Amino acid sequence: MTALMLESFAAGKWIGPGPDARAIASAVTGEEVAVAGSALDFQAMLDHARTVGGPKLRAMTFHDRARMLKALATWLGERKAKLYELSLHAGCTKADAWIDVDGGIGTLFVFASKGRRELPDAQVYVDGAIEQLSKKGTFLGQHILTPLQGAAIHINAFNFPVWGMLEKLAPTLLAGVPAIVKPATATSYVAEACFRMMIESGILPDGAVQFIAGGTGDLLDRLIPQDVVSFTGSAATALMLRSKPHILQHSIRFIAEQDSLNASVLGPDATPDTPEFDLFVKEAVREMTAKAGQKCTAIRRMIVPKAVEGDLIEALKARLAKTVIGDPANEAVRMGPLASLAQRDDVLAKAAVIGTEAECVYGDPNAFAVEGADAQKGAFVPPMLFRCPDPAGASKIHETEAFGPVSTVMAYDTLDDAIALANRGGGSLVMSLITHDPAVARAVAMEAGAWHGRIYINDRDSMGESTGHGSPLPHLTHGGPGRAGGGEEMGGVRGVFHYMQRTSVQGSPDMLGAVAGTFVPGSKTFEADRHPFTKTFGELQLGETLHTRSRTVTLEDIEHFAEFTGDTFYAHMDEEAAKANPFFPGRVAHGYLLLSFAAGLFVEPSPGPVLANVGLEGLKFMKPVSPGDSIKVALTVKRKTRRTDTYGEVRWHVVLTNQDDETVAEYELHTMNAYA
Ligand code: NAP
Repeated sequence: MTALMLESFAAGKWIGPGPDARAIASAVTGEEVAVAGSALDFQAMLDHARTVGGPKLRAMTFHDRARMLKALATWLGERKAKLYELSLHAGCTKADAWIDVDGGIGTLFVFASKGRRELPDAQVYVDGAIEQLSKKGTFLGQHILTPLQGAAIHINAFNFPVWGMLEKLAPTLLAGVPAIVKPATATSYVAEACFRMMIESGILPDGAVQFIAGGTGDLLDRLIPQDVVSFTGSAATALMLRSKPHILQHSIRFIAEQDSLNASVLGPDATPDTPEFDLFVKEAVREMTAKAGQKCTAIRRMIVPKAVEGDLIEALKARLAKTVIGDPANEAVRMGPLASLAQRDDVLAKAAVIGTEAECVYGDPNAFAVEGADAQKGAFVPPMLFRCPDPAGASKIHETEAFGPVSTVMAYDTLDDAIALANRGGGSLVMSLITHDPAVARAVAMEAGAWHGRIYINDRDSMGESTGHGSPLPHLTHGGPGRAGGGEEMGGVRGVFHYMQRTSVQGSPDMLGAVAGTFVPGSKTFEADRHPFTKTFGELQLGETLHTRSRTVTLEDIEHFAEFTGDTFYAHMDEEAAKANPFFPGRVAHGYLLLSFAAGLFVEPSPGPVLANVGLEGLKFMKPVSPGDSIKVALTVKRKTRRTDTYGEVRWHVVLTNQDDETVAEYELHTMNAYA
């Protein structure tokens, strides 16, 4: 094929390779597939992001941005065949490319959906409840999150050029922050093709995304405290970049996802006749061979009970022997080459280091079959399984990440030993535990949790639907302590907050309400000029309140409700017993009776814009209501959120008070209201 001339996308223009561009070789044939390396004006790129992309994104609400991500995901999904085709040059089988391409597009979809469901249709995110800072409630506090006003610099690893780009872009764009993407050069032709599709879609506003094919030059030295770097790659590069004086001096956020010596522990209960034993073998081999082991989450250390070590190694060897290695375009091939010859050299060198403490029990890099490709020209290696006889005394097996199909079996005596070995990785992205014993699960989570970003527990009950040791999910955090970089990505909307600033705001209820775009209890209200249930979504205004008439609660009401519903709890039916209870003065009305009466007081019965009552939140019964007491309701519009093309959600602050104006109950009611 003719080599692709990769282009950067800087300040709205495509810029081809410059004088320092370098060639990129196919992982399968060694032939040149692309050329990358543009000469770029990094200051202009940053200015473009900060002055064009940022303001455009910040003018949108979370829901606007979520809809944008959904449109983008759909657009890419319709064009993904091209990305599968290009991934072959990077050594990816169809299954490998599926993780990268469909995994990346799926991540966009999840963030799009979470953004609509879990974030407000607003520009400010309110974090947590109001803090009462004063006796009379005229001075309050609350936390808000607003988008950073700089650019997000995404520096990505070579192994997942599409997923690695999209899993960072999704939370960044949802937060309202523009991004400059720098993929690893080795597979940048796949990332560039995907990026080009995004620009061609016209879905993203100007300046929202830019792309660097090649190096970052002095970009990081031009960052300001509103910028953020999100790095994925080796620990050595992360250390070099995050310790730059400019980054440290300006407290520039640096999220790092780096090496990880992930472990998988087989529980002491898993003997060779259990489904867990087979499950362990299956997952372990899959993790070694998928993406030729070039996954940051792959299992590098298999920690197994001493009694089953021999059986386990035999089972692993038998399964590994079925792995056909070769040209990923060949459908029979299960494992392609590594991403580059440099990567092959690195993996073999690291395997040799591991070999100083462990014996190789499977896989000889000098003698293995390769289907349909030249073993010398492509970056092929066989899966290599090691066994360490003294894992507690060894050190290199816990420190050396061979970023390929390499893993070491280490046996343990007690569960405590197993946990200690798992934690020897010095902080990992994920550890898995294959056990059918909940007590083992709890012990491991308690003692190993602090050392691992994710704990994946699997057994016969969950294996049918489990998602795999090595699959980071957009719903869950991805990242790990210590050696893994100390960063956190994704995790649903938590990932969005990495690109926002948390600010605590203090002021009166009116001020806090204005900042957050919501009614804050204690703010000024105004009487609705007609029943709010007759008003469309657009007509309702925050703070608009309906005050109902009052209704007396009689003993007959309480008894009728008790018999009708079957709730004859003694506090409603037995004066003596109720009096003996520290909460009640005697027989009292059911809380649910009060809720029902409240609805009876505030609803407007005719068909109108209110389509449905979809739930309530934060219900508190604050004072008992005795027979003879009367109740009335104040119903206030608290927050409005557009949901579909025809209706939106209205949250109402509902307060029930008695004849002495004491609050007896309070809650937030949710209704769906039509726009017209
Ligand atoms: P790498 O060599 O550290 O490169 C990572 C990225 O940093 C690439 O985009 C690279 O660009 C860039 N880079 C290198 N030097 C730079 C510099 N001076 N200034 C700015 N950018 C620079 O790592 P890799 O070999 O691509 O990836 C393999 C490693 O990544 C493994 O250790 C693996 O565990 C880790 N990884 C971690 C995760 C995770 O989520 N935790 C995911 C995947 C991989 P060039 O390619 O242009 O040099």
